[in-house]
Amino acid sequence: MDLASERKTGQTGKRCEDLIKLAESIFRNHGAGLLADPELGLLLTEYEKEIRSTGRLMEELGTFADCSGCAVRAPGGCCGAGIEDWYELPQLLINLLLGRQIPRERPHEDCCLFLGESGCRLLARHDICVNYLCDRITKRLAAPDLDHLKAQAGQELFAGWQAERRLFHILKTHLSISIVYS
Ligand code: SF4
Ligand code: SF4
Repeated sequence: MDLASERKTGQTGKRCEDLIKLAESIFRNHGAGLLADPELGLLLTEYEKEIRSTGRLMEELGTFADCSGCAVRAPGGCCGAGIEDWYELPQLLINLLLGRQIPRERPHEDCCLFLGESGCRLLARHDICVNYLCDRITKRLAAPDLDHLKAQAGQELFAGWQAERRLFHILKTHLSISIVYS
């Protein structure tokens, strides 16, 4: 069964399923140790703060409502099936380190695995998910608000990159786990 067929069944694709299992296994066995690293702890705190700042700004500007509206109108706006396969191990593991469970059930077969009834169920999201703004949003927002939102998204992504870089380092040097992007 190919990936496209697997998606039609509403099941997680094998690649994503394998990465989720691996992230959960690392978290189960090494999560406490990873969270005890002071530098990673600070970087994760900073990342979560930026994620929440982006979320607050999206609420203030009404884009959260725009995207939540799409989430309930399957097939879910721009959150299409297969986007879950863009995710790599570090992003999934960081979600777990931030206390967020990774969804395994896909509510709508034409939508991304991670899309829930009121929007994305992940906390740490892919760069493209954070950066993407459809025409409806870019046409509705005033230029200064759009600039503000883009700048905040950049802050979030930079904080995420810093946390990911530290995570790579610890996994490789302390746990001999090398992450290979596919
Ligand atoms: S970015 Fe646009 S298309 Fe995508 S979920 Fe939000 S409102 Fe819908
Ligand atoms: S990861 Fe979240 S934001 Fe990105 S496509 Fe999936 S549901 Fe949408």
